[in-house]
Amino acid sequence: MAAASLGDQILESVEDQLLQLVRKEYQEKEKISDELLSSLHFVFGNPLLPALDLLDHLKVTKFVSPSGRAAFQVKGSSGKFYALLPSSQFCSCPYHEFGVLKRKDSPMCKHALAVLLSCAMGTVKQASLSDEHLGQLLLTNTDMPEDET
Ligand SMILES: [Zn+2]
Repeated sequence: MAAASLGDQILESVEDQLLQLVRKEYQEKEKISDELLSSLHFVFGNPLLPALDLLDHLKVTKFVSPSGRAAFQVKGSSGKFYALLPSSQFCSCPYHEFGVLKRKDSPMCKHALAVLLSCAMGTVKQASLSDEHLGQLLLTNTDMPEDET
């Protein structure tokens, strides 16, 4: 497992660097160059284009509670809502389970990628929500994963 976790660490740092480039380019030019898009596609794979589509349609909302807790909600293409935590790329969509965890097609699903990209670009909509409703948001949308070995 040591080799796999080292690989994951390298991948994470590549992801971070790409997201920092997205932040920089988007701040300077309000768009992402084709060159950067193809690097993003190389790292994130097929979820990239649907994630950009979610961004175009402003489907990502960040909810913040009075106590400072936050959660993201993404409205998927089927109209279903998915809740994601800022610290985790876990998503309750089927692609996360089959494409990300089982087949390892991509490091994350389009919903998690849309959250990362919208944060990097600063285009995320922000809304406030009570602590109680924030808890409900996470409970109703997210089947928390069982501990896996
Ligand atoms: Zn998802």
